Amino acid sequence: MKVPLLDLKPQYKSMKKEIDETLIRIAESQYFILGPEVEKMEKAFEEYLNVQKAYGVSSGTDALLLALMAIGIKPGDEVIVPTFSFFATAGVVARLAAIPVFAEIDPVTFNIDPAKIEEKITPKTKAIIPVHLYGQSCDMDAIMGIARKHNLKVVEDGAQAIGVQYKDGKYVGSFGDVGCFSFFPSKNLGCYGDGGLVVTNDNEIAERLHIMRVHGGKPKYYHKVIGGNFRLDALQAAILNVKLPYLEGWSEARRQNAALYVKFFLVSGLAEEEGKVAFDEKNKVLLPKAVYKSDTVTNYHIYNQFCIRVQKRDELRKFLTENEIASEIYYPVSFHEQECFSDLGYKKGDFPLAEAAESTCIALPIFPELTEEQLQYVVSKIKEFFDKN
Ligand SMILES: *Cc1c(COP(=O)(O)O)cnc(C)c1O
Repeated sequence: MKVPLLDLKPQYKSMKKEIDETLIRIAESQYFILGPEVEKMEKAFEEYLNVQKAYGVSSGTDALLLALMAIGIKPGDEVIVPTFSFFATAGVVARLAAIPVFAEIDPVTFNIDPAKIEEKITPKTKAIIPVHLYGQSCDMDAIMGIARKHNLKVVEDGAQAIGVQYKDGKYVGSFGDVGCFSFFPSKNLGCYGDGGLVVTNDNEIAERLHIMRVHGGKPKYYHKVIGGNFRLDALQAAILNVKLPYLEGWSEARRQNAALYVKFFLVSGLAEEEGKVAFDEKNKVLLPKAVYKSDTVTNYHIYNQFCIRVQKRDELRKFLTENEIASEIYYPVSFHEQECFSDLGYKKGDFPLAEAAESTCIALPIFPELTEEQLQYVVSKIKEFFDKN
């Protein structure tokens, strides 16, 4: 049985007519950049996420870069980021000649550990970028408390977490000064190319995001500030306008898949419960845990990824590949060990929990259209691997 990591074709098939009509409509309009489709999409996200302003931008990476520019990050400023995330989180800081300062993660959620943030704060610290990794919220109460106490800005990296709610139901991206999202095709809500979104509840920041998206000109060709080309295509916005109403259904299907994985792993005897952080005879597989799960909040986790942890990770991955089960490692090298950041003075051993995650994490297929049989097959093959190893 073949189990791909992600297959977007069934999703397209399920909405082919709407999408095809949209593609043709955009072709016929010959209106390609920003414009009414983008404005319609921005309105929809303002309502959905309950934020004052949303702006469509060219990618999730550009959303982060634009956000840092809009809050005024300058060369030499320090920005605290988790050491365990997709490269863009730290890359955008360095691209502004600011200094990414790495912080340790929580071993259960893989998100930045708020208790490890304060020790990283210096007089040069200007901002924190919490990343809602794999599709669950960071501890935003704690993070916003620290930010307020030290007068720091917060830019949320919600690239993997569109529509995720924190414990009180508030959507991620609406806590900090700017929330950033990605519509890269493999995210829970993907467009047909690159796309992203910035959101804010601050009028001044909103104005800067808006004009910096188009090189900082206002009026056009008169530049008070320096921005860039961070524009979104009308085509991408139109696709998102079609897909947004389906997002919660897809996220729910991912949650159901996650629940099935958990059930099958518990039955297999490879794991005792969710959220364990130490391996032993009864926990050869460490399962993820949705820490803000409650009866009142639906989107406490959207499982952009379902990452388990195992000790012989690379051997398991090879075995799964041989059995036509795809998997991925998010992420094999933490920031503090990346060659491009070697001049920042970190060394292996600085963040043991992130290093434990990078060497044991493996993401299993979790996309909405997977069948129960496929999920069961994945777990049965992992069980077979452990029976032999
Ligand atoms: C995908 C991702 C990004 C970047 O988004 P792009 O749209 O690919 O530029 C940034 N941060 C995280 C955590 C991501 O997963």
